[in-house]
Amino acid sequence: MDPSSPAKAPSLAHDPGHAWEEFVVASVYPEPGTKAKADYRNYDAPARDTVREFYRENHRHQTYDFVQRKRREFLALERKRMSVFEACDFLNTLVDDSDPDIELDQLQHLLQTSEAIRRDGHEDWFVLVGLMHDLGKVLCLYGEPQWAVVGDTFPVGCRHSERIVYHEFFADNPDSVDPRYNTPLGVYTEGCGLRNVLMSWGHDEYLFHVMKNYLPEPALYMIRYHSFYAWHREGEYAWLTDEHDRQMLPWVQKFNPYDLYSKSPHPPNWTELKPYYENLVAKYLPANVAF
Ligand code: FE
Ligand code: FE
Repeated sequence: MDPSSPAKAPSLAHDPGHAWEEFVVASVYPEPGTKAKADYRNYDAPARDTVREFYRENHRHQTYDFVQRKRREFLALERKRMSVFEACDFLNTLVDDSDPDIELDQLQHLLQTSEAIRRDGHEDWFVLVGLMHDLGKVLCLYGEPQWAVVGDTFPVGCRHSERIVYHEFFADNPDSVDPRYNTPLGVYTEGCGLRNVLMSWGHDEYLFHVMKNYLPEPALYMIRYHSFYAWHREGEYAWLTDEHDRQMLPWVQKFNPYDLYSKSPHPPNWTELKPYYENLVAKYLPANVAF
């Protein structure tokens, strides 16, 4: 990281997820064939302060109890009914216009992801996942803090894997000294299956519940676990998974590079693409979806 360009610090406060995704690509999981720009553990890099603070908050507050509260608060899906396109527009109101360096708005990230999937000739529901995978970030528009919307996700109710980014901040999480929650299995039984495991609260789990009646199973896995890096990139938490999870894992892994590395110098043209996506959305989803 170039210390002479502090203005390039990720502005996480305004743009949920984008600065975090940039951090992941730049410093944790660089594109194959490229080198990480800087080790994220380089504590002297001031540009990383916002991301580090984000992790500090996330790891401190995402407890078993917190997740249960958030699920009760949001999973009734009684907040808003809207079409997928209204949700995209709604999400796009989050664009950070204070930082011209962050050139991608939310819709562009979604479109670039879906278009890259489409270019590779994948099934249409896979393309649709690309378009919708971050719509759960509308949680931010309900006033939820960043650390409860974006970032990588992990199981709660059992010991935190040391492979989770900034693992040391879990020292501030009360669950890590609670004997009910700080063993490898915690409240779970071995091989119980991820569907029986509570994940830290964020846009993935929320959108899974919004979409669960409409999409094929691999699509739902991609949505639900796309930020569960400790599992799909690090191979952790295998002791909680069952055969079905293991069958679905390759789909989650197939999706991840599109999410991280599909940034294109030629932004897709939404007006041109809209008819294709209107048809695609109509094939799988009702006109209005409960969020
Ligand atoms: Fe995401
Ligand atoms: Fe994304």
